[in-house]
Amino acid sequence: MNFISTRGKVAPIGFIDMFLMGLGEDGGLIVPETIPAVDAEQLESWAKLSFQDLMFEVFSLYTNGEIPDADLKRLIQDSYAGFTSPDVLPLTTLNDSLHVLELFHGPTFAFKDVALQFMGNLYAYVAKQRNEIINILGATSGDTGASAISSVSGKEGIRICILHPNGKVSRVQELQMTTVQDDNVLNLAVNGNFDDCQGIIKELFADLPFKSKYHLRAINSINFVRILAQSVYYFYAYLQLPANIRAGGVNFSIPTGNFGNIFSGYLAKRMGVPIKQLVLATNENNILERFINEGVYKPEGFRMTHSPSMDIQVASNFERYLYYFLGEDSAAVTARMEQFKAEGQLTFSPEEVARIQQDLSAYGVSNDECLSTIRSYQDRYGYLLDPHSACGIAAYESAGQQEDGPFVSLATAHPAKFDEAIRLLGIEQRFPERIQELFDKPQRQVVVDNAKAEIAKQLESFFV
Ligand SMILES: *Cc1c(COP(=O)(O)O)cnc(C)c1O
Repeated sequence: MNFISTRGKVAPIGFIDMFLMGLGEDGGLIVPETIPAVDAEQLESWAKLSFQDLMFEVFSLYTNGEIPDADLKRLIQDSYAGFTSPDVLPLTTLNDSLHVLELFHGPTFAFKDVALQFMGNLYAYVAKQRNEIINILGATSGDTGASAISSVSGKEGIRICILHPNGKVSRVQELQMTTVQDDNVLNLAVNGNFDDCQGIIKELFADLPFKSKYHLRAINSINFVRILAQSVYYFYAYLQLPANIRAGGVNFSIPTGNFGNIFSGYLAKRMGVPIKQLVLATNENNILERFINEGVYKPEGFRMTHSPSMDIQVASNFERYLYYFLGEDSAAVTARMEQFKAEGQLTFSPEEVARIQQDLSAYGVSNDECLSTIRSYQDRYGYLLDPHSACGIAAYESAGQQEDGPFVSLATAHPAKFDEAIRLLGIEQRFPERIQELFDKPQRQVVVDNAKAEIAKQLESFFV
């Protein structure tokens, strides 16, 4: 299996080179040359596998044997040893048609741990095997940063710098990132929003001399390894459901920001998981809802919501979807992305919108609706949702219930991470110990302006 770019100007590369490249060197996103197919029989033969064993099978379809089986197995085992649930990602049944896949039992209590614990270990492995310098640079709306830092702090041969929007992440997210005292970690708190942080990161990665001089590596969902790791739990959730219930296919509802998680679902579907509808849940930053429902992809005013990890306008993985939507035609992708850059928006024809809606449906959740969903699920099921997971549930309630077949709604964070919203409802929760202990630790971070030059200077003195 080789990997290419959505813009068509990266020569086919192998798995580890793809992992190290992150963003395509032509500015596009990396995708597999062909998506491997898993037929129904093979899929069924995986029904009893643990999440870890399933991940080994799925990754083996992509790694070209570049990582010996025993090493890949050990990397996977190590990555999930710190998850507190024996099932790693437990599937909880709320009623006949609704199941919640809990993705938040990792070290930083958000779904990002599923991919990033593995990527941290893989970077350490590659650093050793290939004697590569690994300088990780990423932007975060809160959870990616915490998770990536946790996955590599203190590891030899790796440095990590994370940009987060100053004051626009939850208290726990900020503490998870900034209380890590290891010298291989630098937190930059940027006076701007997440899109500003992501924009600067993209520019730095697109500056090829800078990227290669400082050996920049990506952990954001521009990295295809992250997408692939996340696709595994769509297989897992499907196979965890009893065969008679999943027989006609399964729907998923996905709290969405950067389009990474839902794109992983799209990939799983293309690989052969019988997924019926992928319901994209957004908050009030609903560019993707407008794209799917109206065929207009256009950033609008940024809003702060109860679900800050979804406060995103320009979604990185949109381009990957566009690539498949346009029939894997990289010239057409390049033309549309250039048009987007020039005009600040893309418009799709009614025929195109109809085709988009065969892949995806969408629902934007208001702040009030997010809170009322948390309230009603606490009352009805005694189940406390975090505000991101609540958006997924609200989308299921509104857009999803007319679909046939069972629904799996992805729970992307632990409620303790977003106590600000939970407290507005007068609900008191007990924090897990790993969160409670953060409040007493000293913080380390550097506040910087939303300016590429200033940030590049910080990097130049931190990365060696
Ligand atoms: C990152 C994140 C999301 C959004 O996921 P994307 O892959 O960016 O679409 C949703 N919920 C939580 C809790 C997150 O951390």
